[in-house]
Amino acid sequence: MFPAAFDYSAPATLDEALRLLHERGEDAKVLAGGQSLIPLLKLRFATPALVVDIGRIEGLDGIGRDDGTLHIRARTRHADVEKATELRGSLDVLLDAAPQISDPLIRNQGTVGGSLCHADPAGDWGAVMLALGAELEARTATASRRVPVTGLFDGPFATTLRPEELVTDVIIPMPTGLAGGTYLKLERKVGDFATVGVAVHVELSGDGRIGRAGIGLCAVGPTSLKATDAEKALVGQEPSDGIIAEAARLAAAHCQPVADQRGSVEYKRDVVRVFVQRGLHTAIDRARGGAA
Ligand code: FAD
Repeated sequence: MFPAAFDYSAPATLDEALRLLHERGEDAKVLAGGQSLIPLLKLRFATPALVVDIGRIEGLDGIGRDDGTLHIRARTRHADVEKATELRGSLDVLLDAAPQISDPLIRNQGTVGGSLCHADPAGDWGAVMLALGAELEARTATASRRVPVTGLFDGPFATTLRPEELVTDVIIPMPTGLAGGTYLKLERKVGDFATVGVAVHVELSGDGRIGRAGIGLCAVGPTSLKATDAEKALVGQEPSDGIIAEAARLAAAHCQPVADQRGSVEYKRDVVRVFVQRGLHTAIDRARGGAA
């Protein structure tokens, strides 16, 4: 399959990219790793008049810290997150999710920002960033704004971003106390998209109670989902088997899977329950300094 004809621009600066997006609006599409956009172009599901390749803009990739937050620059590859081992012990869920995204070829090309902007309901980063309470920095030629990931997804493969907006950063609050997390993914074979994905992040207060809980789900709804009822049931509680089981039940009740060749609604819902339960035990053990 060949894409429809399009103009191609690879600006060297962010300002130039923003100017092109401002001028061309809905006619333009950003190209980051190309692992989702190129297939869409070839299938002619996307037919932009202009593709703006951001691959040559300096400073749009890398992971850094700033004022209590972690900044993952939008063009950071999945493989770069996989290698950021300094995040173990604070943001475990990032390190557990990255190596489960597809295969090394995709991980070396695909970007965190591209994945979030693509808004695949089965995309792993959506669930992870919902669990972590992340925000995106979205820039235009004239302004910038923070978009909480809770307000990003607008339906399958749809976001609330405007055509002229370019995401430059994914911003994650750094935990202030003991933290643990994990990512659990059911796939038909290694490298597959999720049948069910569950991201868990927990922070413990000084008295050992749960101070913060984040649970994100993917592939079980029209968008990635945040299991807010389950999170609320955990906060302020002493971790216990009963509390964890109740949170897992609430998360399973919250998800909206559809039956397909990967499994029935009941099966997927039960995988969510089991993964949330398992993920919370691992996250809490890790936050307490356990070896799980
Ligand atoms: P691109 O393909 O370049 O762009 C995707 C979309 O985002 C486009 O609409 C583009 O305009 C927009 N965009 C990109 N960057 C920006 C930006 N900075 N600002 C504004 N808009 C932007 N993903 C998973 O999560 N889990 C998997 O298991 C998985 N398996 C895969 C298997 C295969 C075979 C393939 C081909 C892909 C798979 N993916 C998977 C998707 C992969 O992670 C992609 O890398 C990702 O979805 C898109 O990232 P990208 O950088 O390639 O973005």
